[in-house]
Amino acid sequence: MSRAWVAEAVRRVEADANRSADTHLHVFPLPPSWGIDLYLKDESVHPTGSLKHRLARSLVLYGLANGWITPDTPLVDASSGSTAVSEAYFARLLGLPFVAVMPRSTSVEKVELIEFYGGRCHFVDSASDVYDVARSLADECGGHYLDQFTYAERATDWRGNNNIAESVLSQLSLERHPVPAWVVVGAGTGGTSATIGRYLRYRQLDTKLCVVDPEGSAFFSSWQSGDRSVTACGSRIEGIGRPRVEPSFVPGVVDHMLQVPDAASVAAMRWCSAVTGRLVGASTGTSLWGALQLIASMRDAGEVGSVVTLICDGGERYAHTYYSDDWLAAQAIDPTPYTAELEALLSS
Ligand SMILES: *Cc1c(COP(=O)(O)O)cnc(C)c1O
Repeated sequence: MSRAWVAEAVRRVEADANRSADTHLHVFPLPPSWGIDLYLKDESVHPTGSLKHRLARSLVLYGLANGWITPDTPLVDASSGSTAVSEAYFARLLGLPFVAVMPRSTSVEKVELIEFYGGRCHFVDSASDVYDVARSLADECGGHYLDQFTYAERATDWRGNNNIAESVLSQLSLERHPVPAWVVVGAGTGGTSATIGRYLRYRQLDTKLCVVDPEGSAFFSSWQSGDRSVTACGSRIEGIGRPRVEPSFVPGVVDHMLQVPDAASVAAMRWCSAVTGRLVGASTGTSLWGALQLIASMRDAGEVGSVVTLICDGGERYAHTYYSDDWLAAQAIDPTPYTAELEALLSS
């Protein structure tokens, strides 16, 4: 009985993927004389609006394949919002209840999306409490704690199966620089960087992986020192930067890390939206800022090649935060000097 249910559940999740198209790889315009191509992998176009659609699908399949999710298993996870939106979608697809444990500061837009997909939101005051509260809620109701921060790196098929790395490389195959010099991503769970870094090594490519990290995150200093016990105050860039070094962060596959000021992330986010006509989220700004720093170094060294980064989610979720001048002023975030730096970089 339960095996039949699991089989049907796996079929539903796989059929959902089978109905979906791959995400676009857009060309970001740069001065042609540089000989450098920048690409944005648009993860905002997944059915639930972010790269977390891939993660939620993988976590649910992993739970089903492990026998952890049965017809009577409520799903629970700790999230800063985007993962919970995608997990609520998959829970509804399987007819299972879903509870998201999130910081009280999570944006209204994300809370509404989780509830739209039939999920329930459970708020905690401190971001560092989400893990323990999610685990005990799951224990109390006989549920499964999806635990994205632990399982992200292992639930994804790092050798292929159209993971994000395999998809990007096949989309680059007809470009003038089909093997990128750099892939630039942020880290929330660390799952995306782990998958990409492993895949680059597995395919024996020369591509380097750069992880960008916002203010208030533990990843950067931990990567530098090798100490996984580092903690920090927490990030204001939704989706990336964590107060602790998450178990899914795999530092050994990261070739380079860049710390990005929040005001630079916001400047690059708004500038990206102006240049491409696509509203993007702030973590996309962090990635774009990092990609442009690497591109400026390549240009100054006379190197040509390609660089890939991600549109992690769209900007619609952030109308009241990163796209609001009042919110920025209240946070004492001033993107002006960084916008000027971007303009200078592109005109030089
Ligand atoms: C989760 C997330 C990231 C980082 O991805 P991980 O694979 O969790 O490291 C970046 N941007 C946004 C908007 C996210 O939700």
